Amino acid sequence: MKARLCSAIKPDGTPCRKFARARLPHCPYHHDLEKRARRRLRALRPPAIRLGPLDDRHAIQRALYRVIQAIAAGFLPPRQSTRLLQRIRLASNSLYR
Ligand SMILES: [Zn+2]
Repeated sequence: MKARLCSAIKPDGTPCRKFARARLPHCPYHHDLEKRARRRLRALRPPAIRLGPLDDRHAIQRALYRVIQAIAAGFLPPRQSTRLLQRIRLASNSLYR
């Protein structure tokens, strides 16, 4: 059986020459490094926006403020922001009729 080497590239540009873990592409060091980087990225991601019940004028204004803040900060992808704004508009239209 042929032993595989770690597929990671070190910061100086040279390949890591340690043995890879069984059924994984990296050595234990680079496996842990990648796991920590993934955990760090997950922690930086903002929580999903849940609007809650939009049953009065203040709730609608609060929801609109939160969505606009998230759009301005670049946290909301276009599809999700469209969906949230449509829900706010529907609630607003049904409230003022
Ligand atoms: Zn490695």
